[in-house]
Amino acid sequence: MPGLEDLYREIILDHYRNPRNRGELPVPPAHRTEGFNPLCGDEVVVFLELTDGKVTDVRIAGQGCSISQSSASMMSSAVKGLSIEEVARLTRAFKDMMSIHESSLEGADADSEAESELEEIELGDLEALRGVVKFPVRIKCATLSWNTLSQAIEDTLADS
Ligand code: ZN
Repeated sequence: MPGLEDLYREIILDHYRNPRNRGELPVPPAHRTEGFNPLCGDEVVVFLELTDGKVTDVRIAGQGCSISQSSASMMSSAVKGLSIEEVARLTRAFKDMMSIHESSLEGADADSEAESELEEIELGDLEALRGVVKFPVRIKCATLSWNTLSQAIEDTLADS
């Protein structure tokens, strides 16, 4: 499909240049969790506010490459207002998307299940990061914010 890669690049650059939900939240009530990707030097800081099992607010700080920072921006817009279960499903769908190429390289046929689950979930702008699977060294850049968010949810639940 011609133009799709350009569109994806535009979406990634837009989130990098105009990051959504950039900033901090007062701690407490919010939780602050840091994530690092030493392979690339990326840092993502997630400020998370959970109320009644829902993400009521999220802010992103930190710095790093365009993939890590745009992924964090997309993640923050995607998860706001979702329940913890919905966040877990979206996280799984995103990580499935990030691993399809890897497993097909290995000739594994076990990911057809993951793929069918993926189709049920609207990834929106996150689709733009699909191309990252072609560059395995950048996958950790794209998943950093999601791993940090999962950690932030765990920390918050452990605390309450
Ligand atoms: Zn990076």
